[in-house]
Amino acid sequence: MQVAVYTCEDCGFEIYQEVTARVFMLLFECPSKRCATNRSKGNLVLQLRASKFLKFQEVRILLWFTHLNVYSRRVV
Ligand SMILES: [Zn+2]
Repeated sequence: MQVAVYTCEDCGFEIYQEVTARVFMLLFECPSKRCATNRSKGNLVLQLRASKFLKFQEVRILLWFTHLNVYSRRVV
């Protein structure tokens, strides 16, 4: 089993997501009470160093992030 670690830049909450599948869904919304109270989705950052991934999963995530950057550049 692998573990993905996120931190919320808004409230400092740490989220541990168990990863059992080859492809997993990245979290976008902070589940902490503080962000919920503020009606904020938080600002989750995936901590790749703290996360224990298989090599190919890491590559997939990096590719996914690259794709996101290209996409957001296009939108802005
Ligand atoms: Zn948060």
